[in-house]
Formats: sequence, C-alpha cells, structure tokens
Amino acid sequence: MATAHISDQSLLKARLEPLYESMIPTAVLTGVAIVVLAIVYWSETHSDFLLAWLTISFCLLLLRGALVMAYRRWKDSRKSPRFWANAAIGMTGLAGVNWGSGLMWMIGAGSEFQVSVAAAMSLGAISLTIVNLSYWPNHTAFQLPILLLGALGFASAGRPEYLILAIACLLFCVAQVIVARRLGGTLFRAMSLSAENRLMAQDLAARSEALEALNRALEIQSRSDPLTSLANRRAYDERLASEWARAERSDTALALLSIDVDFFKRYNDTYGHSAGDHCLQAVAAMLANGIRQEIDLAARPGGEEFALILPDTPLPRARLVAERVRKLVENVSSLSEFNLPRQVTVSIGLAVIHPAKGQTLDMLSWDADEALYRAKETGRNRVETAAERLPKQPKTAGA
Ligand code: GH3
Ligand code: MG
Ligand code: MG
Repeated sequence: MATAHISDQSLLKARLEPLYESMIPTAVLTGVAIVVLAIVYWSETHSDFLLAWLTISFCLLLLRGALVMAYRRWKDSRKSPRFWANAAIGMTGLAGVNWGSGLMWMIGAGSEFQVSVAAAMSLGAISLTIVNLSYWPNHTAFQLPILLLGALGFASAGRPEYLILAIACLLFCVAQVIVARRLGGTLFRAMSLSAENRLMAQDLAARSEALEALNRALEIQSRSDPLTSLANRRAYDERLASEWARAERSDTALALLSIDVDFFKRYNDTYGHSAGDHCLQAVAAMLANGIRQEIDLAARPGGEEFALILPDTPLPRARLVAERVRKLVENVSSLSEFNLPRQVTVSIGLAVIHPAKGQTLDMLSWDADEALYRAKETGRNRVETAAERLPKQPKTAGA
C-alpha cells in the first residue's frame, strides 16, 4: 500500500488550528485577570502606571481578536501557514512582554499580598496557554518574557527573600523550554500520525470505491456479448433457469423465442465479415427495442443466433412480440442509422410453457429450436410456434 504523504504546510496548518481556536477564550480570561490585578493594585500613586498598562493590555486583546478574525477569514486564501504561525508568535510574544512588564512593576511596587496575587495570576496565565504547545515556539513566546521579566522584578526588588523566587523563575523558564520542546515534539508526531491516518483512510475509501466500480464493470462485461452488448450465453443460461424457477413458483407462462438470421452465410460472403458483424449489431438493437426493458431478456447465445426470454407471457402475447421483432428486423435496412446494404430477415421459433404443469426447462429450449427449424423449412422470415404441451397427468394407482 502506498504511504500517504503529508506536506509540511498542511501539518503546520493542522497545528495552527487549535492555537487560533484557543486565542479568544484565553483573551477573555486574560482580560479578567488584568482587571483583577488592576483592582488589587489600585491606589492614587499607582493609577498612572495602571491606567497605561490597562490601556495597552486591552489594545493588545483587541489586536488579538482582530488577528483571529483575519485568520478565520483568510487562512486558506491569503498568506501562507508560516505567516499565520509568525503572526501568532508575534501576538503571543507581545502579550507575554506586556504581562511580564506589568508583573515586574507589580513585584517592585506591591505588598507581599499583592505580589503573591500577581505571581499566582501569572502562573495561572502560563498554565492556561498550554494549548500553545501545539505550536511550541508560540508557547515559549508567552512564557519566557513573563518568567524572565518576573525574575528581573524579583532580583531588583531589593528584598533578599525574593532572590530565591528570581532563581525559581529562571529555573522554571528553563524547565518550560525543555518541556515545551518535548511535549511539542510528541504532539507534533501525534498530529502527523493522525493526519497520515486520515489521508490513508481517504485513500483506502477511494481505492475500494474504484475497485467496486471495476468489479461492477467486470461483472457486466463477463455477462454481456462484446459485439452486440446483449446478454451472452452465460447470462442467458442463468436467466433462463431463474425465470423457469420463478414461473414454477408463481404458476405463470414462460415464453422463449429462438431467433436465427436468414441466409447469413451469404450475407457474410457478399459483404464481408465486418459488414456481417455490423448487421448482427443492427438485428440485436431491433430485438432489444421490441421487448419490455428490465423484464424480458434479449441474448446472443452464439453466432448469428439470438434468443428472447419473456417471463409471465402467455402464448397470444408472445406471438405478438415475436411478430413485432420479426417486422422490426425486416425493416431495419430502411433505417439510415444502420446503413445496411440490403434487407435482412430472421426466422423465429416460439415456445411457451407452464413449468408448474410438470414440464422441464430442456423441453422449452427443445420446442423453441424445433419451431425455429420449421420456420426455416417453411420459407424463413416467419414465426413458428411449438405445439402446446399438455400438463402431465398424475399417475393413477396400478398404472
Ligand atoms: P439459415 O438461413 O439457414 O440460417 O442460413 P445461414 O447462412 O444463416 O446459416 P449458416 O448456419 O450456414 O451460417 C451462419 C453464418 O453466420 C456462418 C458464420 O460465418 C456466420 N457467423 C456466425 N457468427 C458470426 C459473427 O459473429 N460475425 C459474423 N460476421 N458472422 C458470423
Ligand atoms: Mg444458425
Ligand atoms: Mg442463419
């Protein structure tokens, strides 16, 4: 089986989907966290910085919303997946720097309670962006500025007990990069596998559909005569047996017409074998035209001999059909679409049997052939009907 190939571009596209999907919910939560922090830190002396920070933060949130809208609208038509990946990294990086700057200021300006709220909020924001791992550089674009600026804030706050927190921030920073790389890589492989599986499933479905179509075509081919497209000998035999069984079950009449082209050897000798083939095609078209589609069957069991199977057809109606197809063939040379060099005729032997009356399938074929022989003997281009067989009488006791 061929291995499905997934391009880097389509994989990148698949990785961007969850990233952009998460941007609006995280933006809302970030907005809430920013407001909470501003409330916790609000005072006369801090109002200027907090107002500026709030304004920048909300501008960035709006920008993030605009980027998501643009992505949803144009992800397939404008710009490459690489562009959307870079835009997401840029946006996330800006959010990280903004958050980190706020945190750095808050560490220096806040009480222990305020700093612990700010640190808790920052850790919450970091964990919320876990979905950024789907495109891992984006993950670190948010985490690293926060942790680095947070470390700077703790280191420069002038409080020795904060130094340990600064070191923790740096260690956390390194851990984030390692974990993000590893998880990002695992996620990437899982995404590749799932995309590969999806492609393989599609490929398999397409192949099995093509195979089914091929099987159907082969089935039709194996049951039809290549020259005339009528049923071939195999399909004819099967259908005759099944119609016989059906007629037996439903106690209905089954009619069989044996048809033979008259003086066809002469036709071949005069006009050539391929003209003879063309003539057989014209005769076949007339036979197919003269019967009920889907119910009756026109077949070419071999050579210049044809047959019609007419289920549920009593003798008077079968005679009408036989006469109709005989006339259709007689007149086929006048049809311009076939352009035959001369008139062609057929002789028809007709037999009708009620299987339920104790007859056998061989009798039906034999009767039709015998009637055809008589049609030839008595002048050709005519229909002869087999003598009606009487139902078998049940054996009497002692007979
Ligand atoms: P009759 O009226 O008694 O049936 O005479 P006929 O000449 O039709 O009978 P005969 O059985 O002697 O000739 C049948 C001819 O049909 C001989 C054979 O070459 C020709 N034939 C059989 N199959 C094909 C075919 O597939 N294509 C062509 N062109 N001729 C075929
Ligand atoms: Mg013949
Ligand atoms: Mg013939």
